Amino acid sequence: RKLGVALVGLGRYAEYMAYQVKESQYCEFRALVTGTPSKAESWGKEYNIPEKNRYNYTNFDQIKDNPDVDIVYIILPNAMHKEFAIRAAKAKKHVIVEKPMALNPAECEEMMKACKDNNVQLAVGYRLHFEPYNLEMKRLGQEKVFGSVRIVEASLGYFSGQAGEWRLNKKLAGGGPLMNLGVYCIQAGRYITGEDPVAVTAQFGPVLRKELFSEVEESITWQMEFPSGAICTSTTTCAAGIDRLYASAEQGHFELSPAISYGPFRGRSTKGEMDFPQINQQAAQMNAIGKLLLDNQPMLDHISGIEGWKDMKVIEAVYKAARSGNKVGIKW
Ligand code: NAD
Repeated sequence: RKLGVALVGLGRYAEYMAYQVKESQYCEFRALVTGTPSKAESWGKEYNIPEKNRYNYTNFDQIKDNPDVDIVYIILPNAMHKEFAIRAAKAKKHVIVEKPMALNPAECEEMMKACKDNNVQLAVGYRLHFEPYNLEMKRLGQEKVFGSVRIVEASLGYFSGQAGEWRLNKKLAGGGPLMNLGVYCIQAGRYITGEDPVAVTAQFGPVLRKELFSEVEESITWQMEFPSGAICTSTTTCAAGIDRLYASAEQGHFELSPAISYGPFRGRSTKGEMDFPQINQQAAQMNAIGKLLLDNQPMLDHISGIEGWKDMKVIEAVYKAARSGNKVGIKW
């Protein structure tokens, strides 16, 4: 049996997901939720979604009565994640929400509570936890293959920013590239060390395009300190392309570049080049989630709501540090 997925928000990533999920063994795209009637029509035709499975943002709650749908996958601007996750939970559907999970840790807590209260599962779309090169970085770090990790450098940026887009709007995005891309760097620092940061320092970068970046940062650099003494330095930016992950441990180093994008990934360590298959990350993610839901198993730890909440706690601390110029401690 395959589980039915309703995609909420039919933008760029939803389009990618809809296409990639065709290769999933346990999930299929069966319903859509959009505010644009013409998209309901064109996507409906392209993906064979019957009219009864096409919803808008107003009548979305009726999805409760639709047995075709098991999972609601929210791929909307960040500020809309909380509302739709809670509405999906109340409709008794499992919830997958894209990164960043929400705008702040308090919102994440509300989402987790709604899912718990309605007895449905919650996952964050952290696709890299299914990607072999990133899994290898995690293994090399957490299993201390080269000894304890001392330094991580994790940076991600794309030259981006278009007038009018929601990512430049503080209300809809919650922040700039730190929300959109920095969350991957925080994740990487955390999954390579296997630890949660206890303090951060941060600096906003220069604003090169003032007409676009008046509400959210264009670049930000930050440092995370971990309980073991490891440190992670990151820059995320809309002003340049960068996509790399580097870890230095007591007896060696390991790195990926490209590291965080959709690949193809490349990696090497003190022992030589890495050689793993380049996979369909979205199908792998949906297979893993679909299989565990079918087997009635709890959500995988590394993509759970708690993980999304932890990353939001770090993001909150990074902004606080950048605004104040002070080191900010994080209590867990
Ligand atoms: P997008 O702009 O391409 O799509 C957003 C969709 O939301 C559009 O269909 C738009 O019509 C709809 N929408 C509804 N209300 C809106 C409003 N008030 N303003 C703007 N759009 C509105 O964005 P995207 O790149 O698909 O990103 C959507 C979410 O997916 C974000 O949370 C983003 O971080 C996440 N994402 C994840 C990945 C990944 O690799 N996991 C990649 C890209 C995006």
